[in-house]
Amino acid sequence: MDNIVAVKACDSYDEKKVYDAVKEGFSLLGGIEKFVKKGQIVALKVNLVHKASPEEAVTTHPSVVLAVAKLIHEAKADCFIVDSAGGAYNQNAMMPIYKASGMLELNEKYGIKINDNYDSFNAPVNGRVSKTVPLLDALEKADVIFNLCKLKTHGFTGISNAVKNMYGAIPGLVKVEYHAKFPGLDTFNDNLYDIHNYYGKKLCLHISDAIIGMEGAGPTHGTPRKIGLLLMSSNPACLDTIGCKLMNVDPKTIPTIEEGIKYGYLDEDLNIKTVGDDYSNFVITNYQSIKPNKYTPFASAVPKVFQKLVTSWMTQRPVIPCKKCKGCSKCFNHCPMKAIEMRTDKKGKKYAHVDYNKCIRCYCCQELCPFGVVKIKSGWIYKLRHRNDAKKNKSKSQ
Ligand code: SF4
Ligand code: SF4
Repeated sequence: MDNIVAVKACDSYDEKKVYDAVKEGFSLLGGIEKFVKKGQIVALKVNLVHKASPEEAVTTHPSVVLAVAKLIHEAKADCFIVDSAGGAYNQNAMMPIYKASGMLELNEKYGIKINDNYDSFNAPVNGRVSKTVPLLDALEKADVIFNLCKLKTHGFTGISNAVKNMYGAIPGLVKVEYHAKFPGLDTFNDNLYDIHNYYGKKLCLHISDAIIGMEGAGPTHGTPRKIGLLLMSSNPACLDTIGCKLMNVDPKTIPTIEEGIKYGYLDEDLNIKTVGDDYSNFVITNYQSIKPNKYTPFASAVPKVFQKLVTSWMTQRPVIPCKKCKGCSKCFNHCPMKAIEMRTDKKGKKYAHVDYNKCIRCYCCQELCPFGVVKIKSGWIYKLRHRNDAKKNKSKSQ
């Protein structure tokens, strides 16, 4: 796997501009023929984590999907759009997401196919942490996979981009089970790379929609932030490294990058060759990034009665303000650790309550809450530690 990332400036989602930028990106990487042959079927693995409009910067923008699909058709191949969102994986659950994200319009206006195969199977990944992982049948049936990710912050992993987007290859609510199976970032990321390695050369291209990224409470309730770039690479860890730099985040603080080194996707010095535009002109110094959640359940270092308090000082945690909670139970139904309880207040209003002794800080509740009610709060020791880290990083870069 090479270490080349094509960088193309693109200042809006105007269809013609995006098409030209993607076309140029392919040329910089050696041409589309390098990735797809005549007659092949390409799965466009987009990011459709949650029902949201393109303007919310939660999902891969339809202009990017359209540009890639047009170029595939021009290469006399075919493609279809596919993803499994955070909730159930079936037609009823996915249709509102296809509609809101603009994917349905691509189908109706341009005939771009949308996946309607909701089967999955136990893929023999034979990886570092899993022998088998349930994966989407639709991806298995494609000849080639293009990973069309969105550059966003992420409460658990720090960033969501090329590496993390393949978590959506696990069907619907099985993702929740896998959060419970791999609650720590190390094994969670091992599982992600097991999936990438399973697909191997078939997963030959990663395209990051960083025209408008997301900052703050990503991956579903953050704020859109214009970056103005498209990134393309056959190497997801290299692509994510450039993504971190655009967000002004030290890539070595992001576990998916650390794991990428372990799995041989990157060398220790993060040597990457960029072609095309100079990404350093697009770095956003005041990007509201998120520190990855390196939470591990607090062990026996302090007496048991103080563990809960000290853990809350040292970590980030999901907080659900009972007055804002709509009582829909979505977080309750999907929490992998059963750490959420639905309670009723004196007026009979239902609200969700988190048991921090059980919570593994996966932030599925934040990701899935349809009302953006779940916030991430940092304990005072956590804030102090990260303020000091930021100072150290600043002085290193001066
Ligand atoms: S409460 Fe939220 S962050 Fe904690 S384990 Fe459940 S879903 Fe994950
Ligand atoms: S998903 Fe959001 S609104 Fe629904 S119960 Fe949980 S916190 Fe409340």
